[in-house]
Amino acid sequence: DPDAGLAPLQFTVTKNLAAKSASERDQVLQNPGFGTHFTDHMVDICWSVGGGWHRPRVQPYGPISLDPAAAVLHYGQEIFEGIKAYRHADGSIHTFRPDQNGRRLQRSARRLALPELPVSYFLQSIRELVAVDGAWVPNGDDQSLYLRPFMFAKEAFLGVRPAHKVAYYLIASPAGAYFKGGVQPVSIWLSEDYARAAKGGTGSAKTGGNYAASLLPQSEAYENECDQVVFLDPEGNVEELGGMNVVFVMKDGTLVTPQSESILEGITRDSILQLAVDRGHKVEGRAISLAQWREGVASGDIVEVFACGTAAVVTPIGVLKGKDFFDVQPSGPLALSLREELTDIQYGRREDRHGWLVRL
Ligand code: PMP
Repeated sequence: DPDAGLAPLQFTVTKNLAAKSASERDQVLQNPGFGTHFTDHMVDICWSVGGGWHRPRVQPYGPISLDPAAAVLHYGQEIFEGIKAYRHADGSIHTFRPDQNGRRLQRSARRLALPELPVSYFLQSIRELVAVDGAWVPNGDDQSLYLRPFMFAKEAFLGVRPAHKVAYYLIASPAGAYFKGGVQPVSIWLSEDYARAAKGGTGSAKTGGNYAASLLPQSEAYENECDQVVFLDPEGNVEELGGMNVVFVMKDGTLVTPQSESILEGITRDSILQLAVDRGHKVEGRAISLAQWREGVASGDIVEVFACGTAAVVTPIGVLKGKDFFDVQPSGPLALSLREELTDIQYGRREDRHGWLVRL
């Protein structure tokens, strides 16, 4: 553990005097939607060349004041994470594999020339926020508190170089069930004119620019009546969706998922694949081309295709649509049964045999 021996941060806590009342909050929690309501507080930690990580604070949620020359606004030096907190039936609050998100934030930081936040500070920031805003973790079916850690270059300087002043923040937003009325298969648009990532690029980092670049292809998907986009690499291999990884289930029970330097390594995917291995499935990370996908579905060698990520957990893919084809995807029981097993662990309904949960 590289953080062993690192002293914990001493947070200054400033309570929000205009915090929502219990009844206002409960009203929001009845129908939180996604990403529009925020809790009463946020965490922020400063970093500077020479000063390291300093001034850790819990403060009232609210606007950030930035110099117009702040580097993030010009050159996009920014990274983020997405992780959830779950309420169990006994009222306790847990998060899921936060060490994995903390390490991925460090990998993203390296690629974007940002400082690496120690994983222990990352975890501490989550504990500090949930300590003041725990009442915002909903208790309805499939509800959670979505946590959004992010870091950006705040130095006011127009030169192109890694910023000398950086801010880390953590905000939280109650999230409702992603699918109301049961899991719905998604339709996928094949992006043929746009790529999400390039070899040697930032595809494996969780940085805003990747998502900015996905917006135009995503609008093309909507214009073609599809929910999501799938991206290929220059050789025609499947990479991932705009915000989810893809998994193929083969006739012999093997799960195949793209292995590539330019996709985001999902923690949901890693967990689902582990659960599948536990059940005796074989798992392969390898390149799979669009042609192999389409032929596999046509021949019956591929029996299920699903997407996975923190927001929607596991979602069967119902249709793959391109400029000149429309392939209905096979549906089967595995995606939904793995989804159920994973959410049972997250919500404390099943034994956490891998020790993935962290009580907050
Ligand atoms: N790919 C992309 C591009 C994503 O944004 C996400 C969501 N973080 C994922 C995959 C899935 O990752 P995770 O399971 O860790 O949420």
